[in-house]
Amino acid sequence: MFDSLSNRLQDVFANLGREVRLTPETVEIALREIRMALLEADVNFKVVKAFVDKVRDRAVDAEVLKSLSPGQQVVRIVRDEMLALFGDTQGGLPPVSATPRVILMLGLQGSGKTTTTGKLAKWLVKQGKHPIVVSTDVRRPAAIEQLNLVAKQAGVRAHDPAGNLDPVSRASGAMQEARTLGYDTIIVDTAGRLHIDDELMVELEAIKAAVQPTDQLYVADAMTGQDAIKSAGEFNRRVGVTGVVLSKMDGDARGGAALSVVSVVGVPIAFTGSGERLEDLEAFHPDRVVSRVLGMGDVLSLIEKAESVVTQEDAAKLEKKILENDFTLEDFREQLQTIKRMGPLENILGMLPGMGQIKQQMQGKIDDKQMAHVEAIILSMTPRERRNHQLLNGSRRRRIARGSGRSVEEVNRLIKQFLDMKKMMKMMGGLAGGKGGGKLRKQFGM
Ligand code: GDP
Repeated sequence: MFDSLSNRLQDVFANLGREVRLTPETVEIALREIRMALLEADVNFKVVKAFVDKVRDRAVDAEVLKSLSPGQQVVRIVRDEMLALFGDTQGGLPPVSATPRVILMLGLQGSGKTTTTGKLAKWLVKQGKHPIVVSTDVRRPAAIEQLNLVAKQAGVRAHDPAGNLDPVSRASGAMQEARTLGYDTIIVDTAGRLHIDDELMVELEAIKAAVQPTDQLYVADAMTGQDAIKSAGEFNRRVGVTGVVLSKMDGDARGGAALSVVSVVGVPIAFTGSGERLEDLEAFHPDRVVSRVLGMGDVLSLIEKAESVVTQEDAAKLEKKILENDFTLEDFREQLQTIKRMGPLENILGMLPGMGQIKQQMQGKIDDKQMAHVEAIILSMTPRERRNHQLLNGSRRRRIARGSGRSVEEVNRLIKQFLDMKKMMKMMGGLAGGKGGGKLRKQFGM
């Protein structure tokens, strides 16, 4: 997501940075490139026009052109205006006083509504809430089963009175159950259709009247770009939408939906989904996304991700090992598994500042498959070898290569990488022991 847009914008900024002085003409050339990049990313053309006009107004200003770093000034203006595209989006769910909170999930079939219901339930549990979910998609019995399954995975209760196939009474029943048993949030999954139809709208209105939702989240498949925006707008007009969840941001969506939805539909983006697992839901933070699009990285999201998979205890143990130069191949493998739990390597790289371009160069060179190879090699070693790499002589390396189905060169390369890493850690250990190390460690969630 955003890769191609991000690369193109970074090229534009790099060119601007090379200009000693900016003139209205050089700004115009840059604006044309920015315009093309946004249109190719499938951003709504009206949004693109308004955006470029605003940037032009501010950039072709005598003060900006005369300034010491005009290129950077333009980048700042682009950043401000891109942030402005998201209005006052805060991300997540706004506080409400009503209990129980009732969240109605809306969206077309296949948009990721049921999966998102499970993700949201899990997210709410993490926030200390006690959600209950209910499916009102009675036309497809498989939909009810699917929700029951994701609820189980998320560790939350699904309200599912056997044989009740009336959407409104299912939703009301969940309300009742929540009130009696003390659940504080109800997530009502609704039926989807391939296209918007009147029958569905009538059904949604009836459910709405019965449960009086506090939130109406529209799940939009980000891969469908402007089509997603159009149907979000239609749902907003007919039943009302309080927030949009953009799903499938991990796919090859170009980003247009994310950058247009607030301006076109007029509702904030609440969450983004970036994978099929229940953990793959993030509250939407405009500043982080803009930083990512403009190639400034998104270290905050990365730290949050790391914190969600590494416990304080693990971190302390690892730190001790690094300080004592006691890091083994077994620890190396554990670290790889931690990285794997953080999601696809590609997503993680995209969050690091300046990695946008590097990621492009590394395309295909370092991938999740390669991580699996590394793991296979380490797993083919005996526990003793993993604890003490010095045992790994030529014949042992050949045996490991055979055992893991990889070549001896690969085994050698891995051991070399491990030794390099150890060397670097020794240096970092020295650093961390000295002044200012604490901050460095904190930064990396260690
Ligand atoms: P619904 O018909 O709207 O309820 O859609 P589902 O929840 O059944 O999702 C449709 C498909 O999209 C399923 O295969 C999901 O696993 C997949 N899906 C949902 N959200 C995401 C996401 O954020 N990323 C990816 N890659 N797939 C997703």
